[in-house]
Amino acid sequence: MKKIITLTISFFFGILLLQAQGLLTEKNHFTRQDTLRGSITPERSWWDLTYYHLNIKVEPDTKFISGSNTIQYKVVDSQKDLQIDLQLPLKITKVVQDGEELNVVDDGNAHFIKLNSVQNIGSVKTLEVFYEGNPKEAIRAPWDGGFSWEKDNNGNDFVATSCQGLGASVWWPCKDHMYDEVDSMLISVNAPKGLMDVSNGRLRSVEQYGDTKTYSWFVKNPINNYGVNVNIGNYVHFSEIYDGEKGHLDMDYYVLKDNLEKAKEHFKDAPKMMKAFEYWFGPYPFYEDGYKLVQVPYLGMEHQSSVTYGNQYKKGYLGNDRTGTGWGLKFDFIIIHESGHEWFANNITYRDIADMWIHESFANYSENLFLDYYYGKEAASQYVIGTRLRIKNDRPIIGKYGVNNEGSGDMYAKGGNMLHTLRQLVEDDEKWRQILRGLNKTFYHQTVTTQQIENYLSEQTDIDLTEFFNQYLRTIEIPTLEYLIDNKELKYHWTHIVDNFDMPVQVMINNKEQWLFPTAKWKTLPLQSNNTVLNVDRDFYVDVNKL
Ligand SMILES: [Zn+2]
Repeated sequence: MKKIITLTISFFFGILLLQAQGLLTEKNHFTRQDTLRGSITPERSWWDLTYYHLNIKVEPDTKFISGSNTIQYKVVDSQKDLQIDLQLPLKITKVVQDGEELNVVDDGNAHFIKLNSVQNIGSVKTLEVFYEGNPKEAIRAPWDGGFSWEKDNNGNDFVATSCQGLGASVWWPCKDHMYDEVDSMLISVNAPKGLMDVSNGRLRSVEQYGDTKTYSWFVKNPINNYGVNVNIGNYVHFSEIYDGEKGHLDMDYYVLKDNLEKAKEHFKDAPKMMKAFEYWFGPYPFYEDGYKLVQVPYLGMEHQSSVTYGNQYKKGYLGNDRTGTGWGLKFDFIIIHESGHEWFANNITYRDIADMWIHESFANYSENLFLDYYYGKEAASQYVIGTRLRIKNDRPIIGKYGVNNEGSGDMYAKGGNMLHTLRQLVEDDEKWRQILRGLNKTFYHQTVTTQQIENYLSEQTDIDLTEFFNQYLRTIEIPTLEYLIDNKELKYHWTHIVDNFDMPVQVMINNKEQWLFPTAKWKTLPLQSNNTVLNVDRDFYVDVNKL
């Protein structure tokens, strides 16, 4: 995303870029490889991940990586072959268990390991997978994924990984499906001379190897595959301790040397973010691992406990307000949006990428809650309504299951507006806040389905939201309030709706606020005169059609 300077149109480019470059584009034809990558295959389901130790050497001069991943797992079902994913052109060179080298049958990016030793249910086993090669290069990170091999202004290597959607197996061997998060992980990265690696969690050790150093980072909490990252650069470090809901939280910042002074000023948005989001969503979900902002040579990504940052130290989205309201320039978009993902993506994680709205709708929605906290409800409302500029209603928000397929880019702005509409239906901001906090508590460190989130929201709001979610997540139709005023009566109903959609909506009738309860069938409300003006509350994401 650092090449973005060539684009001048501000508010559309995020989504356009996503679509021009692969992620979020429509796909209708799926292959065996998509199923191997996107489903819980029998070769995945019989074992449960407990621990990874990824140990690699990164050589920017030749764009080469090599090393191993030690995979520890618990046997939960009867033994089969064991599927490990690693994407070409990377190659598995050796797999070892109990001191024995094992046979591997390759099927594209999936690799089936023939195990020799007995895998008793309940036992914990370890597998070492050695690999090497030139990993796929990210051309437009983070939208395509892979390794970004860049240089900083002083000619030092500046290297980073990103891999949402494409999958972590683009750069390291793993069980590349979201349903199974590893319980904890050690990431050891040997960086070139004079440079440092910053990965997830806390720095455990630095070991010298000749004139290079290996940095080992330990993640104490469950982590999803695409959240794992390597960042290598000429980093300097500063930090602060945030006094949060669960006590002292270490907030650490790693930036390129030349940016230190700028960052010290600009990153003040980070503790501000923490305060607002702990208020709305509950405690930061990874106190044990700390919070980090790490400068990278691309726009940014929600890497767990090491949020990556490349927004050029500007407010807004690379200096732009994508809402046309002015409110978008009150904060650094990447710090706020990507950190919002610590709650919705890293704490609560989709089980299948088809449900990616759980990450992006809430992260998009978090932007306006940040504004709400510091600038009030009206500012927040203007902002979220402003994001509607980017809704396309091209295809449903939910993608196709089991084939690693994400839905429409509308999961951002339309999803955020759906949640904003739901806040209106709840009509009790404190209750709404407790629901958002409750989500993070109930699904703490879990991978979830859309159904779990939908059910939770229905239960907690005391509203059956089945049709509400069917409408906004599974169709491209916008509910339209159709009405006419005639004969001292208001006649109104919903059109462009799924069966049984009956969402109430707030309107102003001659400047008097009231609720209407439209259904597909026409309803009638007596009026004082035909000279009546009806306005639908803009906080509801609906269309209006006056006949
Ligand atoms: Zn996001």
